[in-house]
Amino acid sequence: MSALADRYGRRFPYLRLSIIPACNFRCTYCLPHGYKADPQAAGPLSLDEIRRLLTGFTHMGMHKLRITGGEPSVRRDLTDIMRTAAAVPGLTKLAMTSNGTLLNRRLGEWMDAGLNALNISIDSLDRACFARITGYDRMQKILEGIDMALDAGLPSVKLNAVLMRGVNDDQLPRWLDYLRDHRVGVRFIELMQTGDNLAFFRDHHVRAIELETQIREQGWQELPRAADAGPAREYRHPDYAGRIGIIAPYSKDFCAGCNRLRVTATGDLRLCLFGEFGIPLRPLLQSDDQVEDLVRAIGGQIGRKEQGHFLHDGRTGIIPHLASTGG
Ligand code: SF4
Repeated sequence: MSALADRYGRRFPYLRLSIIPACNFRCTYCLPHGYKADPQAAGPLSLDEIRRLLTGFTHMGMHKLRITGGEPSVRRDLTDIMRTAAAVPGLTKLAMTSNGTLLNRRLGEWMDAGLNALNISIDSLDRACFARITGYDRMQKILEGIDMALDAGLPSVKLNAVLMRGVNDDQLPRWLDYLRDHRVGVRFIELMQTGDNLAFFRDHHVRAIELETQIREQGWQELPRAADAGPAREYRHPDYAGRIGIIAPYSKDFCAGCNRLRVTATGDLRLCLFGEFGIPLRPLLQSDDQVEDLVRAIGGQIGRKEQGHFLHDGRTGIIPHLASTGG
């Protein structure tokens, strides 16, 4: 059924939708000076526009949606967006990536609205290090929220940690202590170059293979990957309740298993996170009668998807920072 397939035989059951570019943190590798609104920019997609977008994509075989930002919980109608998404026929997995600042207050209503998978961006379990990276001393509250999500039985709880040389790349023992009794997946993500972070990237990029070698030597076993799974190589160990994921965009063949498309907060389709162009879909989200035009437009673009990124050539495409497209 899926019309969401490219010329390399890859299928795209997974859509990442940024619902707002704003964020309430100022992470060193992304928005070190905080989010600055562009007064010229159009506002984010409305609830109706989002519903029409998701209807078009599910018509083409998409079934997994990840809500991203900036920080999605900055949008006051986030719960309405979740409820709307969960009601779209064919959409079976509703995930979100958040920095967790409102988790301990809003988790219940998000789960009632249909949320069934959560990724929390938390780059360190060291309180001072966390505050240095994000600009805020909020780690404890976020960890409490994560425990609430586990206690509430949320089917999938994962933590995303960006690896940075000389910042947090020596903290594996601490993560292992946490994973001994926390049933989460901690994913270590290679720091990626974007349009705005070249100097930081040069100072702090470290390949994930170093950490991956360490965990393999400690007996962690690699697991098979599901078709709609994220890009991580997943590991488990019999002595630990939690799992480890390695996301290494600079590794060979990283893009061979690409299974996701992105749409920005203002409705631009991005065939790749590091793509050189966006395709405006918003004009096709103005009435329910446009769903066939939308499907035709999306289908007509898939063939332009490149085989992979060009990060090794220092080409980062049109994204100034990850918040602009939701990573
Ligand atoms: S870099 Fe682009 S092609 Fe590669 S996995 Fe990410 S989105 Fe897919």
